[in-house]
Amino acid sequence: MKGSVRLLALLLLCVSSLSAQTAPDTMPTVIRAGRVFDSEKGTMSGPQEILVVKGRIAEVAPKVTAPRGARVVDLSKYTVLPGLIDAHTHLLYLEDPKNGGALEGVKAVTMEGTPLRALHGAARARTFLAAGVTTVRDLGNSGRFGDVALRTAIRDGSVDGPRMIVSGPGLSPPGGQFPGVLPAFQAIVDEEYRIVRGPADAALAVQENVSQGAQVIKVYSNNTPNPGALSPAELDAIVATARLLGVRVAAHATDDAAVWRAVSAGVNSIEHGYEMADSTLRLMAQKGVYLVPTDVDTLTAVAYAKAAGMDGPLPQGLVDYMRSERERLKRAVNAGVPVAAGSDMYIALGTAQGPAAKRVLFAYIQAGLTPAQVLQAATLNDARLLGFENELGVIKPKAFADIIAVNGNPLDDFSAIERVVWVMKNGTVYKAP
Ligand SMILES: [Zn+2]
Repeated sequence: MKGSVRLLALLLLCVSSLSAQTAPDTMPTVIRAGRVFDSEKGTMSGPQEILVVKGRIAEVAPKVTAPRGARVVDLSKYTVLPGLIDAHTHLLYLEDPKNGGALEGVKAVTMEGTPLRALHGAARARTFLAAGVTTVRDLGNSGRFGDVALRTAIRDGSVDGPRMIVSGPGLSPPGGQFPGVLPAFQAIVDEEYRIVRGPADAALAVQENVSQGAQVIKVYSNNTPNPGALSPAELDAIVATARLLGVRVAAHATDDAAVWRAVSAGVNSIEHGYEMADSTLRLMAQKGVYLVPTDVDTLTAVAYAKAAGMDGPLPQGLVDYMRSERERLKRAVNAGVPVAAGSDMYIALGTAQGPAAKRVLFAYIQAGLTPAQVLQAATLNDARLLGFENELGVIKPKAFADIIAVNGNPLDDFSAIERVVWVMKNGTVYKAP
């Protein structure tokens, strides 16, 4: 009897040490930081202590008043920042650039399927967290609400990954983003996109997505590479219904007219925005609409060309495309458009998706933004766009304890952002030196 009690106690100990990896960490923690990035000011402080209690930041000061028994984490050799945010991900979708989007999309729907995509997404989610990305806004291409399933599994501690703000299927004009699918097979498109058929249906689509757990609405103002576009009346209905339900709207828009229509309808962010007139940028600045520039840095372009089987120097088209992206990002910043960081990294480059996605920050550096501006885009601005102002993207009292440490000072040498040594999300440590 005694022996079996001991065995039981031992078993319980094993169970509790296993669950400690996933349950919220309740032990107060004092983080000793070498320096801390102040995302609101865009500056770096000297050594600071950060007190974390029950998943939230309780105090930030040169010396905090630590409760007795608090665990101390020594990060005095490192730079501490708010957990990074990626406002445009597709964790349930990865594309072989040799095949192109339509083929790979149809394959994901017909041969991979939502359950397996969610499991693949779980593996990719870990790579985001390890790269210091503690929150993502996942914008569609996740089958039938596979994103909601993955978010729920991360939330309940079954799977390690970033916080996910998810959209469910994107609201699209006919054809979605799968050009060339014959009329008899359009049901395949319906598995990936919510095709909108008029303003009343657009409003219904928002209601459906939110009822299934979507926290943001993704719309395709135009659905490149297909030639469709949502009408102003459809966009108005989507924005009005989203506001009614208290969710925000992210609009895929690639050309100037599509951006103009989406901004006029009152969306919260423009995704991509590759072509934008100065008058459109002025309207965005005036209405406080964020640009999420899903741009490509030089290293990613080289990796993409290699993965797509292109030998030799970068194709001129890709070089011109990068130049025009950079030029419009500069114009957007100069026009006062708020910029939020988002990668749209869904290409299989032979590296993990998390670190590959983070390269988008280098695209912003290459466009001429300062390291402080880029870090603000990936913390403060993203948090504001996602509706988590003062809770995410900042290291200050009452915010969630989403905190990372990097080796080096990214304001002096931005490559430090690739050297993430420590990751905490919601007060739980997921990576340590
Ligand atoms: Zn996207």
